[in-house]
Amino acid sequence: MLTSTTPDPALAPGLWDELVRLVRGGDVCVLTGAGISTESGIPAYRGADGERRVTPMTVSELLRSPAARQRYWARAYTGWPRFAAAEPNDGHRAVARLQDLGLVGTVITQNVDGLHQQAGARDVTELHGSLSYVVCADCGERYAREVVDEWLAGANPHFDREISGQVRPDGDVVLTDEQVAGFRIAACVVCRSDRLKPDVVMFGESVVRPVVDACFEAVDRSRALLVLGSSLMVMSGYRFARHAAREGIPVAAITHGVTRADDLIDVKVDAPLGPTLRRLVEAVAA
Ligand SMILES: [Zn+2]
Repeated sequence: MLTSTTPDPALAPGLWDELVRLVRGGDVCVLTGAGISTESGIPAYRGADGERRVTPMTVSELLRSPAARQRYWARAYTGWPRFAAAEPNDGHRAVARLQDLGLVGTVITQNVDGLHQQAGARDVTELHGSLSYVVCADCGERYAREVVDEWLAGANPHFDREISGQVRPDGDVVLTDEQVAGFRIAACVVCRSDRLKPDVVMFGESVVRPVVDACFEAVDRSRALLVLGSSLMVMSGYRFARHAAREGIPVAAITHGVTRADDLIDVKVDAPLGPTLRRLVEAVAA
């Protein structure tokens, strides 16, 4: 593996040239993680050491316990305006630009923030779903998040959602038990169940098979896999790097810190995503 830990890729010309050559060759499949959205103000789940910083709520906890649902939705309601206000950064724009240049095909993202699409990317597969939707666990009805947000606002006219605290990658803000107490959760208007969940793959859930298979096919159609801002610590993303390596498809990565797939990656640049991707676009377009 070629590795650069320098923030300035130009200081490692051999490595940089190899990355440019791979992307310029076209038919690149891109796989992105939380690292591409940190410059938009959405923090990553893990530090550069690969350790998890926060423990997400499991789906079974959410669906089993009314108290867990109250906690989840109070936090999510507080975090939503901040999460929804996040805007694409240079990294997202660069990925869309690489598609415009005809070099990148499918974008597989582990993120639930919709920022690739906001930046103009097409053919985006949201591996872990989208926080823009909410589903009823009992009847399967699907709602736009804005609609559920209005229900929650109506049910909680005195709740202070300006509470300070940083939004987390899953879109919520940590609150104390006192802050959560009294929060009223919303119910599905079709079946009246209050077992509403975000339309994302929560901790304890798996990505559905048709989505996984479509991603494997996208990798198979590609001449290279470019991993952006992911430590690949969870199998949902790691398996695509492993699959590419097995099939002899080169794997490149721009990310911070260690990844689970370091031994599978052919070219790795450890550098900030936005500036590095902007420079990559300039280099391949030249
Ligand atoms: Zn329902």
